Amino acid sequence: MEDYDVIVVGAGFGGPVAAKKCAEAGLRTLIVERAQVPGEKVVSGLVIPFYGFLFGPDFIMNGNPPVERPICKVVNRFVRNGKIYHTNSSLRLPSPFALGYAAYCKPFCTWLADRAVEAGSELRTSTAAIDLIMEKGAVKGIITDRGEELRCKILIDAGGTQNNLSIKAGIRKKYVPEAMELYMLWDFQMAKEDVDSVFDLSMEFFHGMPEERIGAPLGYGSTFYIFTYRESIHPGLGQFLVTEGKVPDLARLLPEYFENFTSKVERWKNDIAPKVKLRAVMWDVCPIYAGLLPDMRKMPIYGDGMLIIGDAAGLEASAFGDGVPNAWFSADIAADVAIEAVRAGDTSRNFLWRYESRVKEHPYITYITADRRRWDLRNVLASRSEREFRSRINDHWGIGAFRYRYVGKPLSCSIAQSLRKDPLVMARWVEMYRRYYCNWVENKFDKLSTEN
Ligand SMILES: Cc1cc2nc3c(=O)[nH]c(=O)nc-3n(C[C@H](O)[C@H](O)[C@H](O)COP(=O)(O)OP(=O)(O)OC[C@H]3O[C@@H](n4cnc5c(N)ncnc54)[C@H](O)[C@@H]3O)c2cc1C
Repeated sequence: MEDYDVIVVGAGFGGPVAAKKCAEAGLRTLIVERAQVPGEKVVSGLVIPFYGFLFGPDFIMNGNPPVERPICKVVNRFVRNGKIYHTNSSLRLPSPFALGYAAYCKPFCTWLADRAVEAGSELRTSTAAIDLIMEKGAVKGIITDRGEELRCKILIDAGGTQNNLSIKAGIRKKYVPEAMELYMLWDFQMAKEDVDSVFDLSMEFFHGMPEERIGAPLGYGSTFYIFTYRESIHPGLGQFLVTEGKVPDLARLLPEYFENFTSKVERWKNDIAPKVKLRAVMWDVCPIYAGLLPDMRKMPIYGDGMLIIGDAAGLEASAFGDGVPNAWFSADIAADVAIEAVRAGDTSRNFLWRYESRVKEHPYITYITADRRRWDLRNVLASRSEREFRSRINDHWGIGAFRYRYVGKPLSCSIAQSLRKDPLVMARWVEMYRRYYCNWVENKFDKLSTEN
């Protein structure tokens, strides 16, 4: 009856990972992606944190995906009256070890999708799932924007935040505006030697009190940051759709913060501005605080015939907005459960509940979605204490993050788990760091299907 065992909606970061594993297990697997190229509808670029590479799927750790720059250092600059009055760069690693990798989404997701296709999965780009085939409350397939009806045993929803299939299935509800942040990003060209000399292998954050007007009030958005790539940089910032109980005019505010930043902050005016050329300005919405609101966090991530992964399941990290590692982790678990379900001939809700329970047991996923560090920066607005300000930033983007209750706990649990599975895993991690670094130096990665 079914055209496929598994249909995966979305070839962003999570979808191809799930599809590859299902196809390798011999399941007839299809990925549909509404964009022309995988990753095109994600964001332009991002920084994927190290734990995704160390504890995510082996093929990523052992592969040569296209990365733009290893990020070995986080520089936190505290701004008052446009001047940097304090800098914290306590979070750093010597290369080739990296805290994360900056990547452009299009090539990276294309690389992931290429691996899924290589494993036997079919990929249809420029194809959107616009509706579901439902029978007696169970998901039985999708209807595409080309009018096709494609039936499957299991649907994996990897459609990210801008997709309502789980709502159509009656499993999840719309995110509330309090959970969403609007991002604005600027893409500047910068010669590689200039990025190297001005930033080296770092990314920068700029923190200030609200009167500086270089970002959202503390705790109501992402701090002004600069992500660095091979030959470009992306300054960016974001703010909640609801801030301090009101709906701010973000279309006006975000450009205004940027204008204040670029006209006042000396680091920009002296070191960066003379070397960059504006190429594009981008907007995006990401409900990164979904995990902090109990009603949003409690929404199911599975239903009859359907598993929901990554951003579509609200698994973005609430402290940093990092969602790629959780998309990879949940994709891997969803694929395992889909394979078990197809083999058992049971794709009912009662069978699929194990997906949610495994996601909850994962050392990173639940912890990282419910992490309150960024939210709690609001306390500094009330206390106005410089000591508290610096200490919270140090615990967020500084070395303090590794204290047990923050990054340290999931990290130590994951290391212990990995060592139990493979006592030699440390050697594989070192080899990965070395290879990724050499690939970057030589600008040599796996060829992509989109290249001639
Ligand atoms: C501005 C911004 C900055 C970010 N920065 C970072 C960062 O620095 N580090 C980090 O780790 N994460 C970051 N994230 C989050 C990260 O992008 C996501 O968490 C991650 O992409 C989630 O992966 P996913 O597979 O769940 O969804 P996505 O990667 O969003 O993929 C969803 C895919 O599904 C496709 N799709 C959607 N609906 C349909 C449909 N109906 N039919 C067919 N295809 C469909 C989309 O086109 C897209 O390709 C950022 C997000 C934003 C918006």
